[in-house]
Amino acid sequence: MSLTGKVAVITGASSGIGHATAKALAAQGATVVVTGRREDRLVALAKEVVQDGGIADTYTCDVTDEGQATAMIEDVVKRHGRVDVLVNNAGVMLLSRIERGLTDEWRQMTDVNVHGVLFPTHAVIPVMKAQGSGTIVNISSTAARRSRPLGGVYAATKAAVAALSESVRLELLKDGIGVTVIIPGAVDTELSTHITDKEAQGGIAALKQNMEFLQPEDVAAAVVYAVGQPSRVNVSELVIRPRMQE
Ligand code: NDP
Repeated sequence: MSLTGKVAVITGASSGIGHATAKALAAQGATVVVTGRREDRLVALAKEVVQDGGIADTYTCDVTDEGQATAMIEDVVKRHGRVDVLVNNAGVMLLSRIERGLTDEWRQMTDVNVHGVLFPTHAVIPVMKAQGSGTIVNISSTAARRSRPLGGVYAATKAAVAALSESVRLELLKDGIGVTVIIPGAVDTELSTHITDKEAQGGIAALKQNMEFLQPEDVAAAVVYAVGQPSRVNVSELVIRPRMQE
């Protein structure tokens, strides 16, 4: 499949799944606009993409800030003329028992994982409607389907991503816009390194010892599959887990 001529915006592209997704989409010919807060990493990624023969641009953006998220999409349209693919990937997973009441971390997860999907989505809808085409890809998690101890708030945010994705899909199905939810299991990225709760850190370390995690490229391949389909196809959901994950 070729994505030549398509413009793809990837949030949270400075590491992990977003980073791999940007590289994979660029390898198929898409112009990738890589966004996130850590500008140095975005610049390094864009250089890598260009060295590999691709086309990349960077945009530093905090997706929890509605103004920044909206300006980011508007700027991409000014610079590149269109947005064919929006990958809402930015996310945080700060696991802990609800009983601990780490309310700042709950707010951060809700801000990034839910509002950080809604703001760019809201900004891109008029752009894709005017084009009569586009695909919005939202990264949920298997946590949305199976709540575990310590993962309540994270699971709730990822269930929200799945729920709002389906609503958006139904709202836009007459506009030529597709919506895909990717539902990955455990992936080997820096996501869990931001956890502050000792019990949760221990749980992740034990999981890593007992199971081979997915690599970010495995999830990136799922995104490429979803956005590379003919316009009549909407890949609504893809679940991808490590073989050993319950
Ligand atoms: P990483 O921590 O490697 O990547 C998270 C990305 O989100 C970073 O690029 C980070 O960039 C960005 N981000 C965080 N906060 C903000 C913000 N306020 N504004 C903009 N960008 C932000 O983790 P993963 O690659 O694993 O995670 C990517 C997505 O995949 C997340 O939504 C996660 O929930 C989901 N997922 C991950 C799984 C896993 O096991 N790893 C499993 C299932 C789903 P920066 O700090 O530069 O802003």
